[in-house]
Amino acid sequence: MGEHLGAEVIVVGGGPAGAATAWALAREGVDVLVLDRAKFPRDKICAEYLSPQASRILSDMNVLEELERTNPGHLAGMKIRAPNGHVANGEFAANHGFQGFRDTGLAIRRTILDDIVLRGAITAGARVEESIRVTDLARNGSARVNGVVTLGADGQSRTIRARYVVGADGLRSVVGRRLGLTRTSRIWPRRIALVAHYRKVQGVTDMGEMHVEHDGYFGIVEVGGGIMNVAIVVPISRAREIGESKNEFFDRWIAMRPHLAERFVGAERITPVRTTGPFATASRRAWAPGAALVGDAADFFDPFTGEGIYAALRGGEILAPYLAEAIGRNQKDETQILSGYDGARKREFGGKWKVERIVGMAIAYPYFMNNAAKRLSRRKDMADLLVGVAGDFIPPSVVLNPRFLFNLFISPAFTT
Ligand SMILES: Cc1cc2nc3c(=O)[nH]c(=O)nc-3n(C[C@H](O)[C@H](O)[C@H](O)COP(=O)(O)OP(=O)(O)OC[C@H]3O[C@@H](n4cnc5c(N)ncnc54)[C@H](O)[C@@H]3O)c2cc1C
Repeated sequence: MGEHLGAEVIVVGGGPAGAATAWALAREGVDVLVLDRAKFPRDKICAEYLSPQASRILSDMNVLEELERTNPGHLAGMKIRAPNGHVANGEFAANHGFQGFRDTGLAIRRTILDDIVLRGAITAGARVEESIRVTDLARNGSARVNGVVTLGADGQSRTIRARYVVGADGLRSVVGRRLGLTRTSRIWPRRIALVAHYRKVQGVTDMGEMHVEHDGYFGIVEVGGGIMNVAIVVPISRAREIGESKNEFFDRWIAMRPHLAERFVGAERITPVRTTGPFATASRRAWAPGAALVGDAADFFDPFTGEGIYAALRGGEILAPYLAEAIGRNQKDETQILSGYDGARKREFGGKWKVERIVGMAIAYPYFMNNAAKRLSRRKDMADLLVGVAGDFIPPSVVLNPRFLFNLFISPAFTT
């Protein structure tokens, strides 16, 4: 087993969280090495929609123009259909006094997005090594993390030392598990997602669509070039039924819903159905001596509100200055600095986590979802606010007040 000092900071994972962290660190002059088990461009199972505010970070990273040149989709807002058929439309550009970085959200294949974003980190000065799997953390005598153990494509194991290791290795983060920080959320319903790409689905517009059904939900967006991303999310209890027959399950699920089935007449599936899940995980805290977590490795909720990519990019942007400050400091300073990172994450994402929980509960209980859609179909101002919160440019506190929530979920039951 070889051993050498690799970098001041090793980032495990070159997805949006790892790339943004590496970019922000490199910009501060930190020597940073990204390790990813995949070879880019690589795919990631996702509904492939980005909130308008994600474009702000992509613009800062100097990659937005290149992304635009790939001809991605642009979403003006979201359309939500409840089990009872009520439809609500919320738009990003609305008369609510808030404005996002842009009036639209990007919808783009992850093969394209993640590759360009990672190259943005390289341009800023980060080094990237692909096809290297991190299998464990290396520690010094006092159990402080001081590197990673890797397995290369050549089957060779190496230990690479660093002052800090960042776990940006996604949902089932090896770094988070080795640190004992990642846990499965107990309150969150366990779900499984199926995703495929299509052409020629009828009636797809510049409004991203979410259809909530009694047994899960369905989303569709155009990701550019006439390609549609179609996602179905169902309770984990269906896993056995999905088994090896993912395509058949997918087709059956759509065929059972006439309002969807009629739109798939003549449509072509151009990628096989792929599955992932269950997803609901969270970390107790997002750091340990010598290490920190970011992106899905730190927290992952349900994909319904679709802002994991923004949280990953923003998380990297938040983490980098804390890490840069902690390098070379003693343990007491480190504790204070990295606790500051945890606090900053809570301030940044805390409201959003609450909104996600409320939306998650509404999906699980059609009574509330039906009430909400009924109200939102008549109160576009409320729909616009909710979509702006999901779009990351309206503070969650705007919708997290008892009056808004009562009007949304309860009062429609008393109106005809
Ligand atoms: C079904 C579904 C739909 C979603 N839809 C949306 C959506 O529409 N919009 C949205 O914003 N978010 C969506 N999300 C969430 C979004 O995909 C994630 O939040 C986002 O990808 C998180 O980025 P990340 O960089 O933390 O992790 P990832 O993108 O997962 O990247 C992790 C990287 O780490 C690498 N890696 C993993 N383990 C190791 C290891 N041991 N050694 C080395 N490298 C390793 C992987 O190869 C990968 O490149 C969805 C998620 C799911 C499951």
